[in-house]
Amino acid sequence: MKLSTAQKLVKFFSSKKKFEKIKQASLQWGFTCSTCNERSSIWEIGGIRYKAKGTPRTRIRCPKCDTIAMQRINKLA
Ligand SMILES: [Zn+2]
Repeated sequence: MKLSTAQKLVKFFSSKKKFEKIKQASLQWGFTCSTCNERSSIWEIGGIRYKAKGTPRTRIRCPKCDTIAMQRINKLA
């Protein structure tokens, strides 16, 4: 998978181990699209979410159906 600019920056400034941790966390965080019901991870859409709490709502373009909508970000158990 290609890294986004933000992800490249994190990779540059982090150790390999730390980067892997951040990547795993960002893969657990994601949203289930309200249009197509497919789950996408934050990492998948080029984002980073690490040591975060809460379930914010944010405007995201779903990579599966290309719809831009408000989505609830949550973490897989
Ligand atoms: Zn979708």
